[in-house]
Amino acid sequence: MAKYDDRKTKIQATKLRKVFKERQHEVVAVEDLHIDIKEGEFSVIVGPSGCGKSTFLYMIAGFEKVTEGELLLDGEPVLKPGRNRGFVFQEFALYPWKTVKGNIRMPLEIGGDISEEKMDAKVQDYINLVGLEGFENAYPHTLSGGMKQRVGLARALVYDPDILLLDEPFGSLDAQTRKIMQQELTRIWQEVTSHSEKKTVVFITHSVIEAVYLADRVFVMSARPGHIKAVIDVTIPRPRSYTGDEFIQIRLEVLNHLEEEVLKAAEMNKGELSAK
Ligand code: ADP
Ligand code: MG
Repeated sequence: MAKYDDRKTKIQATKLRKVFKERQHEVVAVEDLHIDIKEGEFSVIVGPSGCGKSTFLYMIAGFEKVTEGELLLDGEPVLKPGRNRGFVFQEFALYPWKTVKGNIRMPLEIGGDISEEKMDAKVQDYINLVGLEGFENAYPHTLSGGMKQRVGLARALVYDPDILLLDEPFGSLDAQTRKIMQQELTRIWQEVTSHSEKKTVVFITHSVIEAVYLADRVFVMSARPGHIKAVIDVTIPRPRSYTGDEFIQIRLEVLNHLEEEVLKAAEMNKGELSAK
């Protein structure tokens, strides 16, 4: 862990708590969550379904308000969404009536402070980066899932944010495409960090293989209310493969931590169902 101590903190949560109030009752989604994500770090969060992963990511994005505790980006509390954060959604969330180019251009158009020419050049750069040359004028419905998520990535990166947030972005892809996208995301992350300052990534998944393939550090979240239960360093050099003793050993370690929480979450769901 020593290697992380001297790096600048980018995202810091202290005693973070998030409560959703529904008509009759409250849902405590996140409680007593502490995390310290370093600048330039590729962090991956795994956890059982419903444990508060999306909620935590939405708070970093500024989409959801913090109930209690502290959530700091570069030492400042998160108050609202901003250009320093790019977000990739699981369900792509593309505008069906806009082309690939149009979708990626959207954030720049909303910003409204860049000339048309510069916008076009920027958009083309990111289209090339994510490997969509030739598909500039295609509409989302004509694209495969993997290609849609390339558009999602380009759109999240077009403002050159220093934090990239991804909520199970490859969850709906078939196994083969998912692997390709994991490799592509690693390549893209390395490319964007080589010619600008380092990008900090927070990536959510419930696939342990995906987590170990991508992460500098894997954070395991507990069953709801979610907090960070274990932190596992992955120092395997990139490009990684999905095999090898070290990979398998780390995978087992993460899996052990996760399984306990998945069982707890399953028990909790059973209890909630029988109470209904
Ligand atoms: P995960 O992403 O880990 O699957 P979520 O963060 O989506 O979990 O949800 C955590 C808990 O908070 C769940 O019990 C979910 O039902 C609840 N929750 C999430 N968003 C809302 C909301 N907008 N209103 C009420 N409850 C919510
Ligand atoms: Mg989620």
